[in-house]
Amino acid sequence: VVQRASQADVVVVGGGVIGLATAWVLADEGRQVVLLDRGEPGRAASWAGAGILAPGAKRMPAEPMAALRSLSARVYPEWAERLKAETGLDTGYRRCGGLEIAWDEAGARALEAKAQLWEQEGVAHGRLVDREIQAVEPAVSPHILMAYHLPGRAQVRNPRLLKALQMACQARGVDLRPSQAVLGLEVAGERAVGVRTVGGPIAADSVVLAAGAWSGSLLPDSGMCPTPPVKGQMVLLRAGRPLLRGIVEDGLRYLVPRDDGRVLAGATEEDAGFDTRTTPGAVRDLIDLALRICPALGEAEFERAWAGLRPGSLDHLPYVGPVPGVEGLFLAAGHRRIGLQTAPGTALVMADLIAGRTPRVPIDALRPGRSPAQPGPSAFRS
Ligand SMILES: Cc1cc2nc3c(=O)[nH]c(=O)nc-3n(C[C@H](O)[C@H](O)[C@H](O)COP(=O)(O)OP(=O)(O)OC[C@H]3O[C@@H](n4cnc5c(N)ncnc54)[C@H](O)[C@@H]3O)c2cc1C
Repeated sequence: VVQRASQADVVVVGGGVIGLATAWVLADEGRQVVLLDRGEPGRAASWAGAGILAPGAKRMPAEPMAALRSLSARVYPEWAERLKAETGLDTGYRRCGGLEIAWDEAGARALEAKAQLWEQEGVAHGRLVDREIQAVEPAVSPHILMAYHLPGRAQVRNPRLLKALQMACQARGVDLRPSQAVLGLEVAGERAVGVRTVGGPIAADSVVLAAGAWSGSLLPDSGMCPTPPVKGQMVLLRAGRPLLRGIVEDGLRYLVPRDDGRVLAGATEEDAGFDTRTTPGAVRDLIDLALRICPALGEAEFERAWAGLRPGSLDHLPYVGPVPGVEGLFLAAGHRRIGLQTAPGTALVMADLIAGRTPRVPIDALRPGRSPAQPGPSAFRS
């Protein structure tokens, strides 16, 4: 019989990429961590995602979200190596490069505006027209008007990353407990002192809430930080051979080629509550997108489709920081479309906060309890 501790330095609620990455960093700093997931860890939004990672930049941007993304881009290659060394698993981290494409003049102007942001941050990019596009990506449509090549675009096989993080957490002594739904927080006065679970209470000095789209409702004041689910459907095609070299982005939609010839076509953005069914209309649209960008995919095999629930927020920015009014309670949720690409930065910042250090990137604009921010222009979204 395994004796389960009913006490920890830190309880992490939720075993998605955010919770697992945070638990790993905390354990690395010598903390005793219990991680609870109500199901199997790593099977919710983090599993469903495409694994697109933003390129690194020469300069660390001042804007908090860009800084979190940039820090994460710098850390990813090192994490991939460490996870490989600690678990033997290849996370599929690859600096595969990518294209952002435009079909018409309006699309080209929108991309040129983004290119100015890349320029400011020092993100490598090159403008391509006509045959230059096929020189980089031979199988894309000749009807694409122009494209930017981003050599620093990277990807990760997120299911493998999640498996590796779980193994690395366990190797560092994280007490990882599947099928342990957290029912609520234990608060004494104005301090979080632990959580109530289906298996009984667990006392802790600090609690990190990283329960994805389910986080908002677990807070004592459930209206303070809403994390509404944003449904995303995805289609997986399998070509007999690799057709694309890198990621191809067409506005908010994209194709992500894996090394084995598989290509992901994603993703929808739907307000559909906690529904994770796939629908014929969305699957058809994603297949149309895939064939429009890469006509040769018409001969690929349709492998499967799925849907995941991105954790939303009140203003498209995640919540990263202490929850006002409840000492010892921290929120790391609401990452919407960028949770995989900003997981390392989020985890490192959470560890800073729990240790009482100044966070390594400024998180004022991300703090729980803020007034909604006006989303500014964004250099990258997945
Ligand atoms: C189709 C799609 C494509 C995407 N593509 C990308 C991409 O290319 N790049 C990128 O950066 N991001 C992408 N994302 C977004 C990314 O997947 C999310 O932002 C990220 O996975 C959120 O991670 P999380 O750990 O907060 O949530 P989740 O992965 O949802 O994990 C939350 C966990 O909390 C657990 N939980 C919930 N309630 C409780 C409770 N009461 N007690 C205990 N445990 C609980 C759940 O079981 C779950 O395991 C995509 C998302 C989708 C859906």
